[in-house]
Amino acid sequence: MKLLKGIAASAGIAVGKALLLDHEDLRVPPRPVDEAAVPNEIMRFEDALTRTRAQILKIQNQITKELGREHAEIFDAHLMLIEDRTLIEEVIGQLKKTRLSVEYVFSQALRKYTAALAKVGDEYLRERVADINDVGRRILRNLMGERGTRIDQLTERVVLIAYDLSPSDTAVMHKRDVIGFATDIGGRTSHTAIMAKSREVPAVVGLENVTQLIKDGDEVIIDGIDGVVVINPDRDTREAYLTKREEYIASGREFMKIKDSPAVTLDKRKIALCANLELPDEIESIQSHGAEGIGLFRTEYLFLNRKTLPNEEEQFFSYKTVVAQMKPRPVTIRTLDLGGDKFLSQLEMPREMNPFLGWRAIRFCLAMPEIFKPQLRAILRASAFGKTRLMYPMISGLEELRAANDLLNDCKRELHKKGVPYDPKIELGAMIEIPSAALTCDLLADEVSFFSIGTNDLIQYALAADRVNEKIAYLYDPAHPAVLRLLRNIIVSGHRKKMRVSMCGEMAGDPELTIILVGLGLDEMSISAVLLPEIKAIIRSIKFSTAQRIAKEALKFRTGKEVMSFAREHFRQLSKGKSFYGNLRDRREETA
Ligand code: PEP
Ligand code: MG
Repeated sequence: MKLLKGIAASAGIAVGKALLLDHEDLRVPPRPVDEAAVPNEIMRFEDALTRTRAQILKIQNQITKELGREHAEIFDAHLMLIEDRTLIEEVIGQLKKTRLSVEYVFSQALRKYTAALAKVGDEYLRERVADINDVGRRILRNLMGERGTRIDQLTERVVLIAYDLSPSDTAVMHKRDVIGFATDIGGRTSHTAIMAKSREVPAVVGLENVTQLIKDGDEVIIDGIDGVVVINPDRDTREAYLTKREEYIASGREFMKIKDSPAVTLDKRKIALCANLELPDEIESIQSHGAEGIGLFRTEYLFLNRKTLPNEEEQFFSYKTVVAQMKPRPVTIRTLDLGGDKFLSQLEMPREMNPFLGWRAIRFCLAMPEIFKPQLRAILRASAFGKTRLMYPMISGLEELRAANDLLNDCKRELHKKGVPYDPKIELGAMIEIPSAALTCDLLADEVSFFSIGTNDLIQYALAADRVNEKIAYLYDPAHPAVLRLLRNIIVSGHRKKMRVSMCGEMAGDPELTIILVGLGLDEMSISAVLLPEIKAIIRSIKFSTAQRIAKEALKFRTGKEVMSFAREHFRQLSKGKSFYGNLRDRREETA
């Protein structure tokens, strides 16, 4: 048995068999295919070989041009493998015989081939193993498409173990196949972690070397509450985690009892409790957890895991569906936030040294009106079907906001001219997630009607701590005095101008910080649907006046650690005897 400590990314406990995803490739599971589908599998194989050949030739030409022919010779060996009839015939023969998917048959043949080569005495041949693996991986990638589709094709329930998973990988995970995951890298507010929460898949990230310590088929426990992974647990440990899982499920059930009660403090201050949505299929969970609306619809997920960009009609259909299903509750649609840790294969965005500081979100959209305007029109059109709010991500100052509004006004005029209905009073908001916006929100307030604080980014930019980097995760501190001061400034400035101030970053879903956030005066919080009932229970058990006093005290501390232990103390007093998830957290380390 081995115990590893990482970062808790998505709550819940999973116990199951590990499936390792190595740096880039999934160890391909055997997927049966019908006899009638065999010719199609052969065609897929031939197609993958043709594509691989074209890719290698392209690389070879490029290297010849840049470095000279001798450096490109290595690719001759790759091309030879693609044309090797013995291997091709072996694959086709096995495919007909076993009727398992071509990627599985090919990966097995490749293993056999390289294992045989690795044993021969000839050094030259032994060195070819790396080449063969290289080209083999390329063929597999072409066979299986984007990584996402591979995760999508699992045939048994597994705990995924990977160096990293992209948000798009996580988006296609099915809860029934992937019961949990653990990764070497990553942070608590990465979009992979956020997606795992939405999919209700327990996850631990930032474990550094989990892929080296776990083997395929090991029994693994993922504890997404405390950020612990246990490899091959002994009986007692397994039992203890099964009990913890039961407690977690029971506490969830307990909270669900108040899901339809209003989120109102004991002295009657009402807070709107909304949910964040990544994919339209989350609506059911959002409604069943009692959300009062959608405070953040991350539209970029409609653009991921596909070969082409969704056009205006397709987007309109998705937005309209969500808006109509939520009616009469409001839906806040955030315009495209690509870049950072979310990329599209079909857009070939340039690789940047600092993607979170780079060509991202509104910056990208303003440079690409041919992508931005269809989205704006689609959102405006959806607004005719229910209460819709539109919000821009990553606004850094007034100029950007005005540029976006100019395009929005163009779109309104276009629709008006064509007689296409939309809500002319559609509410417009800016996400406040860049310190420059937080410090000038009095200026922004004149040109939008609400703010939504994106703490995931605001914290990373304020503290210069990359939200997806586990190495500096200790610096990524929502309770840092700088963060609290920024929050106070945003809320006070917003309220001075009579605006509604919401928070849609992960901080809003941390039960230990709820009292302070309520006390600072937030009007709305938008979080993962599963967290709604617990946060509501906390709001319902405090007085606003007490929360205000506690928030004021919190602002006097000098370090994040002090703020956090103060917040925890109040949380513990409040939740004593109640089955809050927060109470399931293991605090031995903190007190040690
Ligand atoms: C945020 O930054 O807090 C936010 C809600 O947006 P995202 O996590 O999608 O960047
Ligand atoms: Mg953000």
